[in-house]
Amino acid sequence: MHLYIHIPFCRQACHYCDFHFSTNTNNKRAIVEAIAKEIALRKNYLDSFDLETIYFGGGTPSLLDTFELEFLMDTVRTHFNVSPAAEITLEANPDDLSLEKLVQLHQAGINRLSIGIQSFYEPHLKFLNRVHDSYEAGNCVKLAQDAGITNISIDLIYAIPAPDHSILRLDMQKAFDLNVSHISAYCLTIEPQTAFGSWLKKKKMKPIDEDFAARQFEILIAGLAEKGYEQYEISNFARDTQYSKHNSSYWKQRPYLGVGPSAHSYNRLSREYNISNNAQYLTAIQQNKIPSTVEILSQADQTNEYLLTGLRTKWGCELSTLGILSDNQFEKQNRDGILEMTQKGWLIAENGTILLTQAGKLFADRIASELFID
Ligand code: SF4
Repeated sequence: MHLYIHIPFCRQACHYCDFHFSTNTNNKRAIVEAIAKEIALRKNYLDSFDLETIYFGGGTPSLLDTFELEFLMDTVRTHFNVSPAAEITLEANPDDLSLEKLVQLHQAGINRLSIGIQSFYEPHLKFLNRVHDSYEAGNCVKLAQDAGITNISIDLIYAIPAPDHSILRLDMQKAFDLNVSHISAYCLTIEPQTAFGSWLKKKKMKPIDEDFAARQFEILIAGLAEKGYEQYEISNFARDTQYSKHNSSYWKQRPYLGVGPSAHSYNRLSREYNISNNAQYLTAIQQNKIPSTVEILSQADQTNEYLLTGLRTKWGCELSTLGILSDNQFEKQNRDGILEMTQKGWLIAENGTILLTQAGKLFADRIASELFID
């Protein structure tokens, strides 16, 4: 089973980000205590108490001090059996990572870091409004390796407006030099409720050029493959099968419990969404209430979610699972659709599985939505 813990604080708002966070950290300790209480209140949500992965996401979990992190880990261990081989990931920003802090994180049980580097190029970091600078971007990985954490993923953002692809190539080279086992590469998207969204509306910024973005994605895929990084999910690349176990569990529709403001949970039959407001979350938990809304998943919802996430992975979607989830509606509704996609060269249907081709990966979400059932 899998546990997600959302830490809803950041030092400053990145211009592209629409995740839930607050830059006011005055009630950080109280929120941490509330999250611990939510873990206790919801320990029976999953069918089992055995945890294979724990993921501290955000927000910026590296803003937690060692005491807070140890307190949350102790709480988890009190209510669950954490497998000795569990993957325990912490999302971190480069500006938070001193050698001392990294040693403490490692001692607290963190054995995987997902570091939000995004770019090594100073003007791009400023454009995105990241807190860290290009020196910290490169140095934090070396510090983490010195602290004994070897399972490291870094995030990169591509399609940042630029005259050509040379900065992306430079970013890729710097990433390769750091010898990390995992790279997540995300296309810059402009969400309405962000600084970029507001600039776009006021015409102070142009939309992301789709052709430029597609070309950058192709450069990334080719460059990463050359260095031995396998694209096991559209945006995720790993060497030596060092896949993110936690994120893979989402893509394979495994149940998970999510705690903290804005966290989601999933138990196959429903999804549950915690409120995205720190103060309201705190008040509810202090009254022993879970501030969440529940969405019951229909057969169509379950089938379509599996399609949307499964098709993005190298494992694809099993036709037998699609049949069970949809009560055989998937095949009935998609006989022509699958044939059409395979003829276009976007989809492969083999050994009872459907998979995207390299060309299909450029339209993953569109292909999935065309196969959705009613
Ligand atoms: S991208 Fe990460 S660090 Fe930046 S505001 Fe969003 S959650 Fe915070």
